Amino acid sequence: MPAEIRHPKPVPDWETRVFWEGIRRHEILLQRCADCSAVQHRPRAICATCLSSRVEIFEASGRGTVHTYTVTHQNQAPAFRGSVPYVLAYVDLEEGVRVLTNIIGCEPGEVQIGMDVVVDFEDLDEETAVPRFRRA
Ligand SMILES: [Zn+2]
Repeated sequence: MPAEIRHPKPVPDWETRVFWEGIRRHEILLQRCADCSAVQHRPRAICATCLSSRVEIFEASGRGTVHTYTVTHQNQAPAFRGSVPYVLAYVDLEEGVRVLTNIIGCEPGEVQIGMDVVVDFEDLDEETAVPRFRRA
């Protein structure tokens, strides 16, 4: 099994703070436009589809499928050096948005495009968690 992934903590800004607060509570929070029903991620002050400011927050199921992935075998950045090999992936959430994440809990060679995955939150400390995904 690959080593744990240790990287710098996310730095929320005014648009992404609500998302990261949700992650800390082990919830993936997405936005849905009250005017055109578009679902979006990353969080924004307005709807990226129709520019409405009436965006509402809702909790995602945490389920999705692997859209694509890559296995990193070399990374000389100190925070990642000890974690290789690790899987960096785009996961399509069942709500219709795509998130960049890691696939954990299996050997990198076991990951497949289209594989069903479910979120698995890792607490980095008392204030910060990160969402990763594992086979459903
Ligand atoms: Zn909209």
